[in-house]
Amino acid sequence: MSWSVLKYGGSSVADSQLWGNIQKEITTKMDQGHRPFLVLSALKNVSNLLEALLHQALAGVHSKAIFQLKELHFQFAAELGVNGELILSGDFDELKHHCETIARLQTITPKLHAQVVAMGEILSTRIAVAYFNNVGIDALWLDARDFLIAENQAEHDPWHHYTSNQCNYRAPLTAQLLGLAENQLGITQGFIAADPAGDTVLLGREGSDTSASYFAARLNASQLEIWTDVPGIFSINPRDVSEARQICEISYANATLLSRAGAKVLHPRALAPVQEKNILTYVKSTKYPELSGTLIHNSVAPLTGVIGMAKEEAVTVIKDFSHGESVLSALMIMGFDQIELEYEQDDVVIMSYRNTEQQQPLDEQLARQFSINIDSGQTLITILGSSDDCRWMEDVNRHLASQYGERVCQCLTNKRQGLMSILTAEHFASELLAQLHVGLIQNRQDNTFGYQWNELTQIV
Ligand code: ASP
Ligand code: MG
Repeated sequence: MSWSVLKYGGSSVADSQLWGNIQKEITTKMDQGHRPFLVLSALKNVSNLLEALLHQALAGVHSKAIFQLKELHFQFAAELGVNGELILSGDFDELKHHCETIARLQTITPKLHAQVVAMGEILSTRIAVAYFNNVGIDALWLDARDFLIAENQAEHDPWHHYTSNQCNYRAPLTAQLLGLAENQLGITQGFIAADPAGDTVLLGREGSDTSASYFAARLNASQLEIWTDVPGIFSINPRDVSEARQICEISYANATLLSRAGAKVLHPRALAPVQEKNILTYVKSTKYPELSGTLIHNSVAPLTGVIGMAKEEAVTVIKDFSHGESVLSALMIMGFDQIELEYEQDDVVIMSYRNTEQQQPLDEQLARQFSINIDSGQTLITILGSSDDCRWMEDVNRHLASQYGERVCQCLTNKRQGLMSILTAEHFASELLAQLHVGLIQNRQDNTFGYQWNELTQIV
């Protein structure tokens, strides 16, 4: 029997109306002779609330916030016919204990950060298991920390160790190793893992996709399905440009580049494990399961023109960078992440500040401390297209020169990968993005693209 790993994101999990669709998908998989395995996110926005809770705990005012988190989960559980109070009280006691420790120590250690924020996925999966058992599907709650073991980097970079770690995905897993009985449905958490010492670690915000991909690779699954609120990967984030077009199929490499450039639909580290095993990966919408979504695989036809665009706001740009690894590591320990796109202009480093525990250090302070030319607060717009025929880059350049002139701070390219990034001030970014999308993608007739986002409501 072949494994089918299904990952449901926070907006799918949190909507009790969608659980009928989730259940239907699971039974369809079973009827088709697949063995489903479920990886779930926390309820929508709960990870943000838990990050906020860390600061409330630091100020010693966490009781009300914990009460509200309880209400939210109990209410949701009730909508699914589950007694939340009964199954979640132990977890809420643990959450309270962590908050009291933060209040007492007067610091949010990275380890406590991980323990608190991990709780979102623990809670959502407990409710899911109870729901499935109620509706007659034998389900087992699996603690992802028993199976996903993260790299040990606690000594040199505790921030990334506890909040954005990575795991080995080569050790095979089986139903027996997972402790699953025949026909039992395994349900586990996205986003969380354990380090070799047994401490809870996180895989980076939005990292549940990566957990699902780890499990898919280790189970040698025949497919991975990422179920989310949008039906597939779009040419641009539909929330930014409502004329965004659905991308019908895309290679692992290009989908990874779009995620690294800031496309929110997949976590940047999600595809490497499935790519290595050539596991077919689908991105689909839980609300509109009948829509085809996007297929990610290896034998996609070569691109013509542009396939997609992404935006990353508030990036920190370091120019004329020649300092090497030690300065980069120091910035990483503070909570910066490097945007992993390679450019021909290799003296430019682009970072994004992801630390939610401390304010971003001022540019002046960092410039003095490390003797670097640093500038925060720009927006990075990245366009991904054909690398065989880069004429589209000339079109972009012409458009920028005629319409935007000095408002574009810098253009960065990688012709080998078909990648072009534009750094601009935030207030020009939206207009520029929308215009580039009209010119390069919106009216394309070929079958690279499917439906347009704002027409979807008429299709379904
Ligand atoms: N719940 C986590 C987050 O919001 C992980 C995920 O949903 O992918 O970042
Ligand atoms: Mg996501």
